[in-house]
Amino acid sequence: MYNWNIIGHKKQLELIEEDIKSGRTAHAYLFTGPSSVGKFAIAKMMVNIMQCPNNLCRTCPTCIQLSKGSHADTIVLDDDGESIKIEQIRDIIARLNMTKQANYKILLIKKAERLTPEAANCLLKTLEEPPPDTMIILTTNNIREILPTIISRARLIKFTGYSEKFLFEKLKPLYPNVEEDVIAQVCSLAIGKSGKAIKLLNDANLLASYRTMYNILCEFLEDRPVYGKFKAIAEIIENGTENEFLDVFTYLVRNRLYKGLETGSNKITASEKKRYVALLKEIEETKKLLKKNINMRLVLENLALKSV
Ligand SMILES: [Zn+2]
Repeated sequence: MYNWNIIGHKKQLELIEEDIKSGRTAHAYLFTGPSSVGKFAIAKMMVNIMQCPNNLCRTCPTCIQLSKGSHADTIVLDDDGESIKIEQIRDIIARLNMTKQANYKILLIKKAERLTPEAANCLLKTLEEPPPDTMIILTTNNIREILPTIISRARLIKFTGYSEKFLFEKLKPLYPNVEEDVIAQVCSLAIGKSGKAIKLLNDANLLASYRTMYNILCEFLEDRPVYGKFKAIAEIIENGTENEFLDVFTYLVRNRLYKGLETGSNKITASEKKRYVALLKEIEETKKLLKKNINMRLVLENLALKSV
């Protein structure tokens, strides 16, 4: 019905359109699913549809204010990496209770898992009994970190990643000047995340750094002196590219595993298969540990030791 300009998520967009069309939108929405699949982009478009007098025209004063982030009745908390404190939520609730000029008062929070427990509790009352014509949209990559009391008060819309094949088919016509095998590699690197894939396709430097990382990592799977691997890790930490490193590592190991499982190719042995499966688990564990601010160098060195 609307020009969403979004890859996939047909079912989720239909649910949202159905709510808007029937005039029965919920007071609160919670968009949940993996990062970089378009949840926040969709939430922002939903805000536009609600506020624009012409159902998302992108040209009226309201749409222009929204795109500049200067719309008085729309509060957007983008992800700045900081937690959201109770004082901030108190201010926002005061703003939601002021008179409005637009169709709605809307609060949009990206990565709602950033709310401290106090802040989340403070928001609870407003979620339960919002001022008239108020809408709150939350997005999260990790629903387990959201208070159950918040989840139960919001309309839940679940998003999933795409298959690499689906992403490839969608991106190919959008990037006619990029070679197909580059697009295929990018889709694979992005592990089904459209936002990530588009970022890689639009940023030649980032893609180049992924490729450099790929070459470094090929050595990690070989039985080489550990000294060189530790040196590479030191450089990765210095450049702050540890997340890219783990993304590319996942890509490399998955590729070896799946290629080895294909019939007719150089088959991998049972022990190699076991090793790659175990290594993928190790990489996942490493990702979790890094989020917990555990000594990054030790964690990555440990992974290097386990990669052979
Ligand atoms: Zn408009």
